[in-house]
Amino acid sequence: MKTLLLAVALSTCSVLVHAKAPIGIVIHGGAGTISRNSMSPAQEQAYHAMLTHAVNQGYSVLERGGSSLDAVTAAVTVLEDSPLFNAGKGAVYTFDETHELDASIMDGRDRRAGAVAGVTNVKNPILLARAVMDKSVHVMLSGKGAEQFAKEQQLELVENSYFNTEFRYESLKRAKQAIAPQPHQAAVPYDPAWKMGTVGAVAIDKKGNLAAATSTGGMTAKRYGRIGDAPIIGAGNFADNSSCAVSATGHGEFFIRYQVASDICARAKYQKISAAAAAKQVLAELKQVGGDGGVIVVDNKGQLSWTFNTEGMYRALKAEGGEVLSEIFAASE
Ligand code: ASP
Repeated sequence: MKTLLLAVALSTCSVLVHAKAPIGIVIHGGAGTISRNSMSPAQEQAYHAMLTHAVNQGYSVLERGGSSLDAVTAAVTVLEDSPLFNAGKGAVYTFDETHELDASIMDGRDRRAGAVAGVTNVKNPILLARAVMDKSVHVMLSGKGAEQFAKEQQLELVENSYFNTEFRYESLKRAKQAIAPQPHQAAVPYDPAWKMGTVGAVAIDKKGNLAAATSTGGMTAKRYGRIGDAPIIGAGNFADNSSCAVSATGHGEFFIRYQVASDICARAKYQKISAAAAAKQVLAELKQVGGDGGVIVVDNKGQLSWTFNTEGMYRALKAEGGEVLSEIFAASE
C-alpha cells in the first residue's frame, strides 16, 4: 500500500511516500526562485524529461539489486551531464568567468565519505568524490591535488570551457552588474535571483542501505575559492543507516553554519520523529534566519520526502511499485 501525503506550511512543502518494500530514490536539481512565470512550457517539459531520466537511471540500479551508492552515483552523473542543472556541464560561472565544482558522496552503512572542492577540469565531480571515498584514505581533496588524483584514477578530464553555457553566462553578467558598486562579491548579500542550484540524490537499496550524493557549480560570481555546503559532509550531504540520508541545495553558507543534513538525521534519531518531519522543522528554522533552500531525504524505513522553503525545487522520486513523480514548483502553485 502506498500513501501520498501533501503538507504545505508557510513556504515549506513536503511530500511523503511510504512504500512497503522500501527500495526508492529521490533526486533534486536545485531550489530557488523557480516560478511558473519564469519558465516556458517547453523548458518545463525539458526539466521534467531530464529529472525523469535521471531518477529512472538511479532506480534501475536498485531494481537490479544494485547498491544505493551506485544508484545515487548513476542519477547524479546524468544530472551533471545535463546542461539544465548547475553541476558538471551547465555549472554556474565564477566571478572570473571560469567554473569551480564541488561534490560529495556518503555511504550510510559505515559513514564512509568522499568529497572534492574547487575542481576545474573533471567532467563528473561525483565520480571523483566516489574515488576519494573508495580509493583513498581521505575524505576531502581540493583544487590541484584533487585534479592530480582524478588524473591518476583515469577519470575523464575536460577543458574548463566544457562547462560553459550561454544561459549561465547571462546570469553571471546580471550578477556582476548588481555587484559592481561594491569592491567584491564577498561583500554583497547574495541575491537568489542570480541563480544557484545543485544536483543530488538519496536512495535506499534492497539491503536497506542508504546513500547520498550531491554535486554543484556553487553560486554565480563566487570568488576567492569560495566553497559551499555541497562537499561538506553533514552540511550539504549526509547518510547514516541508523537514521537517514539527505542531499541539500540552497544558500550554502547557511547550510554549513546550521549543519543542515546531519541535523535532520540527528533530530530524526534522537527525537524519534520521522526524517521528513525533522527536515520540515530544520528548513522552517533556516528560513527564519534567512537561509533559502531545500532537501531530499530518505529514512531507514524507506520513506522518501522533500522539503524546501523557496518558490520551487526541481525534484523527482520513484519508490517500489510507484510511477515517477516529478515536480518543479511549490505544491500551491
Ligand atoms: N548549495 C550550493 C552552494 O552553496 C548552491 C545551491 O545549491 O544552490 O554552493
